[in-house]
Amino acid sequence: MPKTKRGRVLWSLPARGRGTCPICTSTRIKLLYPKVKSDGTGVKVCKRCSKAPQAKVDAICI
Ligand SMILES: [Zn+2]
Repeated sequence: MPKTKRGRVLWSLPARGRGTCPICTSTRIKLLYPKVKSDGTGVKVCKRCSKAPQAKVDAICI
């Protein structure tokens, strides 16, 4: 299985896989972990927030 969270793979992603995490609002952090809100919207969060409880994810408003 190829590594999809490090190395050159990231360069092909939009903004090279980086952005502002919607949960912890860290800027320029790698957003590689998909989460699904209760309304079915998919969001990408950082490594730290990949383990955040679903309540935190649902609190995101974009
Ligand atoms: Zn985060």
